[in-house]
Amino acid sequence: MSLIETHDLRRVYELDSGRVVALDHASLSIEKSDFIAVMGPSGSGKSTFMNLIGCLDKPTSGHYRLAGTAVESLDANGLARLRNREIGFVFQQFNLLPRIDALSNVELPMIYAGFDKKTRRDRALHALGRVGLAERAHHRPMQLSGGQQQRVAIARALVNSPSLLLADEPTGALDSRTAIEILALFQELNREGVTIVLVTHDADVGRHARRLIRFKDGKILDDHRQTPLDARDLLSAEVAA
Ligand code: ADP
Ligand code: MG
Repeated sequence: MSLIETHDLRRVYELDSGRVVALDHASLSIEKSDFIAVMGPSGSGKSTFMNLIGCLDKPTSGHYRLAGTAVESLDANGLARLRNREIGFVFQQFNLLPRIDALSNVELPMIYAGFDKKTRRDRALHALGRVGLAERAHHRPMQLSGGQQQRVAIARALVNSPSLLLADEPTGALDSRTAIEILALFQELNREGVTIVLVTHDADVGRHARRLIRFKDGKILDDHRQTPLDARDLLSAEVAA
């Protein structure tokens, strides 16, 4: 069974000025432990697609199964529960709470999931360790670099052990060297079995995925597997130079 299966997924926005077909009959499967880049020009339907597979929105028509659950049959509560259990989100602007430290930011999704304080601490520390930031647990976002803030956001996304990591332009706010470090982290997590779907407009970022899906005018224009660049090679080449 695939982790994600969509069949004729369609999302239409009804506006006073007319209808916008944001996503048009998108059918695809995504396997566990794959690393997908979603590309396409502005307005091509990438965010609409991500919102649907992220259970933040419901399709106008079509079917979507996530980890075996028929998503279109769920109410808002069911959607929220599935989202909390199965999906971790990473955003361009990190979206960390500024007044609490890294550890408390990473603990947040577990508060909603109902874990006790000790378990939350232990698991948040472990997640920060996974992204190489155990020593920065008590820094607030302002006391961290952009790359470190994105690592905290990735730790937060991982802390409930989701089956899927969804990242919308996760390197968009970072300089190119830091972007490569974050891609190296995504690739490491992917080798450990984390399924990643990453939206980017940057072809260089897209080359690090195992599979590239391109959207145009709400439709899947192209979908192929590729041999990914290894971000570690770029980092070590830089050290050697
Ligand atoms: P992308 O992320 O690739 O830039 P989007 O998925 O955001 O594209 O948008 C796809 C199309 O749907 C665009 O034409 C956009 O204007 C339209 N759209 C997106 N969100 C809404 C909305 N909430 N209401 C109306 N139209 C929308
Ligand atoms: Mg978008």
